[in-house]
Amino acid sequence: MIESCWFCKKNPELPSKAIDVPILKVIKRERLLPSTKEVLQNPNININKILADSAKKERVTYHSMELHVPRCSVCAEAHAKVRKVNIGCVAFAIVTVLAGCVALGLSQNNSDIGIALCGAFPFSGVIVLVVGIMANKRYLRSLGTLPESDHKKYSELLRLLGEGYTIITKKQLDATEHLSAIQNASNKK
Ligand SMILES: [Zn+2]
Repeated sequence: MIESCWFCKKNPELPSKAIDVPILKVIKRERLLPSTKEVLQNPNININKILADSAKKERVTYHSMELHVPRCSVCAEAHAKVRKVNIGCVAFAIVTVLAGCVALGLSQNNSDIGIALCGAFPFSGVIVLVVGIMANKRYLRSLGTLPESDHKKYSELLRLLGEGYTIITKKQLDATEHLSAIQNASNKK
């Protein structure tokens, strides 16, 4: 079933443009105790040590998955543009701060121009940053599109978070999948 885009609520989603949110829920935690058979088969075993060791071990059963926040190509393109403008504005602001520092160095030689520039450069950076953020907001509003960060407000995601899921990183998701593969392999033995 093709859903409509979460960000504009009008265009049909394009699956390749969806935002993937890895999530995980711990279903069960069990403490691993040695079986009676295991203990009986080892007459020399130190039962206190086994109990102490096993108390630390637990088997965690969890469910992890990637939730796809539906997005259309128009919104994906708009989000990419906004990101580019943001990166440009931040880069410009950093350059102006550096320029301000250079001006501060010059101003130590009592140059009036240096003193003026060490304030003027960072000030222009802040202006560009504010203008950029406002322009991005207006641009998204003109398209009737929610900002990219609003994927965290996706109704299905909020429902799953309410059920006890938490948002994890892609790296953590890969790690849980790797762990499941190891567990499945050892269960088959
Ligand atoms: Zn859209």
